[in-house]
Amino acid sequence: MGIARRLIIVSLAIMLAVGGAILLYKPWREGGGTVEATEPQKSEFARDRASSERPVPFDADRAFRYLEQICELGPRISGSEGMAKQQELLKRHFEAHGAVVEFQRFTAKQRSRKEPVAMANLIARWHPERPRRVIICAHYDTRPIADQEPNPRDWEKPFLAANDGASGPALMMELAHHMKNLPLRVGVDFVLFDGEEYIFDNRPTDSGGDLYFFGSEHFAREYARKRSAATGNNPPRSVKAVVVDMVAGKDARFYWEQYSFTHAAGLCEEIWRIAAAEGYTRFVPRVKHAVLDDHLALLRVGIPTIDIIDFDYVHWHRLSDNPTNCSGETMAEVGKVLSIWLQKCR
Ligand SMILES: [Zn+2]
Repeated sequence: MGIARRLIIVSLAIMLAVGGAILLYKPWREGGGTVEATEPQKSEFARDRASSERPVPFDADRAFRYLEQICELGPRISGSEGMAKQQELLKRHFEAHGAVVEFQRFTAKQRSRKEPVAMANLIARWHPERPRRVIICAHYDTRPIADQEPNPRDWEKPFLAANDGASGPALMMELAHHMKNLPLRVGVDFVLFDGEEYIFDNRPTDSGGDLYFFGSEHFAREYARKRSAATGNNPPRSVKAVVVDMVAGKDARFYWEQYSFTHAAGLCEEIWRIAAAEGYTRFVPRVKHAVLDDHLALLRVGIPTIDIIDFDYVHWHRLSDNPTNCSGETMAEVGKVLSIWLQKCR
């Protein structure tokens, strides 16, 4: 936590320098400094057609059906029956497409709850024997309360979290169809984090509110522990990671997220350049929001990580975050960009 806090403080200082309005978790939505791509950078983004890698034929309709299928399980709160059903569905799916699936199990005690809860990150490995690896990750749990609903009486109603919960795993389910035939030089891990949204007291953590990111923090700790205990001359190493969060909104725009840009600008530029070359206008090469998300835990253990997130999604933490407000086309744009990026990874 100490290092994380320092990371956040350093980033805050940078945000101040670029003129962002900064407060605590929620107001960051409105805040955000802007760092625009320079003019030469912009034209470079637009003209880069040099890459020979082609996107996979990502099926937008099928991806959307996966999103619906996950939502049909009901809320997927950590430790719930909906989560257990989702885990079963995903394990079966990824294994059927050739991945090696592992559950990284742990228990977490939330400040506002009496009892600890059993949680599990799901890891689907492609080319598990390759030591040099990249990660595509997302959270797959859903928030117990729709705390952005103006009327608190609505908070406890069943909340499907189609974009903020199902979009990440649904995108990976569709990508899984294409992983075997993808020419890759690295191993790839799809990682689904539990316990990102297990929040009942949404005051800022520093003011006694609940803790975030149980899954990504557990994953990062395990990664660091295995790295330091590793023997042999080429132990597995994750060289880059991309978090996808809320990647299915109908009118999604993906800006550079502040912490991603501060700590992994090269990776931001690499991915947004691929999008520009493909003519995908949902990716806007400009910093907008600073979002506390699962990428911070991975950054802390030295994995360059960025967050692709649509933080302007108006249904965020509302009952209206359902499939009606999602689009397979948005997921296809993100999935195709990632499929080119994976081919470029060395
Ligand atoms: Zn959320």
